[in-house]
Amino acid sequence: MNSTSLEISNLLSNSKLWRMHRPMGLGHKELHHYIEDKLPTWHKHTLGKSYRGKKIFSYSLGSDTGKKVLMWSQMHGNEPFSTYALVLAMEFLQTDHELSRLVRESLNIIAIPMLNPDGSQNFTRRNAQGININRDALRRTSPEAQILAKTFENFAPYYCFNLHDQEIYYAPQGEDRPTAMAFLVPSSDIRKTVTQARMEAMDILGYVARELNDYPLAKYNDSFMPTAFGDYFSSQGAATMLFETGYIIGDQLRRETSLLHALSILLALRHIAQSNGREYINVYEQLPFNQKHAFFDFIMKNVILKNGKQSYRVDLAINRNRLDPDRFVSFDEEYLVFDIGDLTGKQAFRVKDFEGKLILPKEKIFMYAQADWLLPYFD
Ligand SMILES: [Zn+2]
Repeated sequence: MNSTSLEISNLLSNSKLWRMHRPMGLGHKELHHYIEDKLPTWHKHTLGKSYRGKKIFSYSLGSDTGKKVLMWSQMHGNEPFSTYALVLAMEFLQTDHELSRLVRESLNIIAIPMLNPDGSQNFTRRNAQGININRDALRRTSPEAQILAKTFENFAPYYCFNLHDQEIYYAPQGEDRPTAMAFLVPSSDIRKTVTQARMEAMDILGYVARELNDYPLAKYNDSFMPTAFGDYFSSQGAATMLFETGYIIGDQLRRETSLLHALSILLALRHIAQSNGREYINVYEQLPFNQKHAFFDFIMKNVILKNGKQSYRVDLAINRNRLDPDRFVSFDEEYLVFDIGDLTGKQAFRVKDFEGKLILPKEKIFMYAQADWLLPYFD
């Protein structure tokens, strides 16, 4: 990371918001109070209401004649760190810093922090109707999708930032650390045509990736998903970028990676404000793909499973039950055995070798996975 990026990171970490990190994020009221109180430079607008009647707000900043950028966070309610990142970046853009002044003079920004307030309250991926807003870009059954689509149509941005958090279990292909930030320039059609707008988005993300190259970064594959908002906006000609908060081992509240996410947003805005080149496309193209299930929470090696009269030696891979986010119960209750067998070469945040000394009845492995001695590690 160069000295400007380090300086910006340090300034971001001075924000009061950075000390307000909680596993389930900010409440809807708390978030908008914070913005009203601390970010008076941003102009607030009411866009509409969520399915349960919570107001969805946008905030605007910049020059009327500037390049238009639309950013939104937390369309998946259980991805609160994208909102911390967005608001940290918004707060920074009010300052007198050179980057902030450049962005305010050259860009026209609308930000929608917390597009899915009902899902955020319940800590579910989906909205209160049970709809995944990110598969509702065309049919628009959810009021949240209607609001995002209408804002896009009215504002007609050329640049779109789609801000999410990913599961902590990803790693860039060939890396032994989890992905700290993941990116994607979504496709605009089934053939994955590399349009001018996509090239520009790749250049922007390549620039960001080059700046953050001390960290394990990855890109998602760009299979076309017409009902997802990123792909839809891309198909409408916008230079669309996906940003996903990743994970650094030990940073349970993802304070470090939400800071990286905020920095990524700011660097992307700076590049939009000052660039007309294409020199970083290859940096984006060379990013490794993001690998799902590269990590587990825990691997128990060389456990003896007793199955009736037989017993055999296995390894167990155990995750907290965050695999289906809509079945999520709490941060410290549910564990499940994800894989059984020879797990040589698999990675976990914690590995313990039982050397054949722990015998588990096969029918009880789920119970053992919830045993007390597992819990302190995750606290
Ligand atoms: Zn998401």
